[in-house]
Amino acid sequence: MPRKTSPHWGFALTELLMIPGPIEISPAVRRAMEVAVPSHTSTAVIEAHGRALRRMRQVWLADDDAQPFVLPGSGTLAMEVAVHNTVAVGDVVLVVNTGYFSDRIAEMARRRGATVHELTVSPGSAPTAEQLEEAFTRHRPAVVLATHVDTSTGVRIDPAPICALAREVGALTIFDGVCATAGERFEMGALGADVYLTASQKAIGLPPGLALLVASARALERRERLGDAVPMVFDWQRWRPVMQAYEAGGAAYFSTPATLLILALDVALGELVDEGMNAVFERHQACADAMREAWRELGLQPLGDPAVAANTLSALRYPDGVGPELIAQIRAHGVVVAGGLYPGLQQSYFRVGHMGYSTTQPEQIETTIEAVRRAVLSTRS
Ligand SMILES: *Cc1c(COP(=O)(O)O)cnc(C)c1O
Repeated sequence: MPRKTSPHWGFALTELLMIPGPIEISPAVRRAMEVAVPSHTSTAVIEAHGRALRRMRQVWLADDDAQPFVLPGSGTLAMEVAVHNTVAVGDVVLVVNTGYFSDRIAEMARRRGATVHELTVSPGSAPTAEQLEEAFTRHRPAVVLATHVDTSTGVRIDPAPICALAREVGALTIFDGVCATAGERFEMGALGADVYLTASQKAIGLPPGLALLVASARALERRERLGDAVPMVFDWQRWRPVMQAYEAGGAAYFSTPATLLILALDVALGELVDEGMNAVFERHQACADAMREAWRELGLQPLGDPAVAANTLSALRYPDGVGPELIAQIRAHGVVVAGGLYPGLQQSYFRVGHMGYSTTQPEQIETTIEAVRRAVLSTRS
């Protein structure tokens, strides 16, 4: 952990960042960016970019014919790209709505001109198999949008039944994995999912700045019927030749890639591939179990149903008589956590991220638990 004073900013960057993104990053990823800014046609970027694309297929557990995209941008941009390349005006879209970011992608589909139906569950719960079946039978969607882990409630949905039902009606499935990818088990190829997207500042373990998506062959094919109705900067057909060129060991230009972040991406994905995705998912599970045990001992109640709780973050109700001031008290012990996000419930709970590098560092997890413990105990005295 860099706990030095920045000569430029003049203050010590000593806080431990335990929010659901951005997160703490590994020393190797940080070192990868400590170079002069490279050109997008430099050997370093060509090699790193090509390898990063291949490594994305491994981290996403995607088929060989799936296309990874690395775009300058955010998670929201990745969502917009996925919607614009798969949804045509007038398409019937089903949104499995588990919270804040499902609302966002539903709005994107509406703006795209789709007929949007939402299967909205109560905050902190996931849809049942019966609810999903009923929604698919009733609406027969062309595209299904779902949030793998809802960052506002800490709920993880099971993508398998959604993919199975989608196949029956010929629908494409798009999963927002921004709070899940590389933290929660997701085998894109085996599931038959069509787009799985994330952003660099979540469990992948980079600073903010990259939108990352993998699209299945089916999804790429669906793009064809849209003609030039896709805004250029979102368009797979503009970006795909660039990705193919880098993967083939060359460079191509459409819009300048985030060259420094691409060097870091190659290193971050390399760490995941070296560890093995199974081990990565199990590490997040073990860390989340330890966190949940600590919260139970402190008497902190989860916001949602424990049966569908994510491994990448905890959403915890404030103890009785305590409110958002708890966040400042935790921060006084050196740890940054996040407030509530679900519309209408923001004041009733807080969120602790536990994804990526911190889950490899037991002392960071202990520091976080200890900061929460001391803050909670101080409210009782
Ligand atoms: C963080 C997050 C986003 C938004 O990502 P930005 O990079 O902030 O645009 C979208 N979906 C989910 C599930 C997220 O956790």
